[in-house]
Amino acid sequence: MLSDDDIRSGMEAFLERRKPGVRAATMGVGSDDLESGRRYLQAAAADGWAVPSWPAELGGRGASGEDGRAIKRIQREFAVPDLYVYAVGLAMVGPTLLAHGTTEQQRQWMPSIANGSEIWCQMFSEPEAGSDLANVAMKAERDGDEWTLDGQKVWTSRGMWATWGLVLARTDTEVPKHNGLTMFAIRMDDPAVEVRPLVQMNGDKHFSEVFVSGARIPDSWRIGELGTGWNVAVTVLAHERASAGGGGGGGGAKKQRGGAPTAPTWLAALLPDGPFDDPIWRQRAMNAYAFDQAASWTNSRAAASRQPGPAGSGAKLRATRQYRDRATIALDSLGPDGMLTDNEHSMTYLTSPSMSIRGGTDEIQRNILGERVLGMPAEPRVDRDIPWSRSRKGLL
Ligand SMILES: Cc1cc2nc3c(=O)[nH]c(=O)nc-3n(C[C@H](O)[C@H](O)[C@H](O)COP(=O)(O)OP(=O)(O)OC[C@H]3O[C@@H](n4cnc5c(N)ncnc54)[C@H](O)[C@@H]3O)c2cc1C
Repeated sequence: MLSDDDIRSGMEAFLERRKPGVRAATMGVGSDDLESGRRYLQAAAADGWAVPSWPAELGGRGASGEDGRAIKRIQREFAVPDLYVYAVGLAMVGPTLLAHGTTEQQRQWMPSIANGSEIWCQMFSEPEAGSDLANVAMKAERDGDEWTLDGQKVWTSRGMWATWGLVLARTDTEVPKHNGLTMFAIRMDDPAVEVRPLVQMNGDKHFSEVFVSGARIPDSWRIGELGTGWNVAVTVLAHERASAGGGGGGGGAKKQRGGAPTAPTWLAALLPDGPFDDPIWRQRAMNAYAFDQAASWTNSRAAASRQPGPAGSGAKLRATRQYRDRATIALDSLGPDGMLTDNEHSMTYLTSPSMSIRGGTDEIQRNILGERVLGMPAEPRVDRDIPWSRSRKGLL
């Protein structure tokens, strides 16, 4: 087992300590910075600090769950750059390859994810397959040892930076929708793949429409067995939700050794100019702070006890609320100036509604919790057991 001092000295070799009161940039908001994340991942890769739980030969250091959690906790003391650009590979594709990929696929893709040399994007959503993801219509047809892919994806975050896309496609139209899907990897620089960036309301251009017109890929890029794409997608989404719910996002107070707790970073940054002499404002801040604490403890308990699963939906719902609460408090603290867009908080505020949509909407997370955690009756699903070709989308 690693001691906290071992971890600190390992990280001090390549990371600066976080400066008090400086908030970490997250989710790539307002930034297209690829370089600082890549520099960090290259430096971290030598000793596997970025993805400690991965096997050493794949870019990690084979850390136990307990060591992994200690590393994550201590990492928060350091100025780790925003890894938004690399997050699909690090948090979703890598763990999914460990669960469903072949040894060759793990060796082909995981080291270059760990060291930041290849970026991945997640090509799941389509114009009529978002919440109803099993309705995916992108077609994959087998031709000898190759597959031909045709169709359209949308909301593909990081599509314009990615080397690889993780693409969910329909390989059988004559079975119920969940059973006819297969997962593939596709090269984004294939001439048959066209990426068209879309502008978000916060001004970011992080996601894209992707048109795939007759792209040919080898069968060795199929991830999982034929027809098991839904299971693979569920693994990806569980990791996405668990990582979105993460570790509490710096919301907790920092207790100095032997001293009194100090305000969490997001609040400390607001204190000098904010209206916190007012008891109503202090109450708002404390409500958000208390929720942060409860979320952080709940996430730690979930992380200690199991693999990502439906509990990730609860973590994602809590993280969405935390992000929104902090963004709203920060913007409101500016008073009337908060209505302008030339301040540091408006970007985060304009990003906050997207948290309720990306990775599955709040309503869908509540459906999952209701059905799979609380055991409530499932909502009616009329197309669940008929061949996809006879469902509405299949008939179009
Ligand atoms: C910033 C951002 C980044 C994204 N990045 C990616 C990405 O990288 N890759 C990717 O594949 N996708 C990505 N998405 C897409 C995202 O996963 C979908 O937008 C989301 O799943 C919702 O699908 P939809 O937009 O088609 O909405 P719809 O499914 O059409 O939903 C519309 C509304 O109906 C509600 N609704 C739908 N079905 C139900 C139901 N059964 N019960 C209750 N309410 C329901 C929804 O909650 C929502 O409010 C991203 C989205 C955003 C905003």
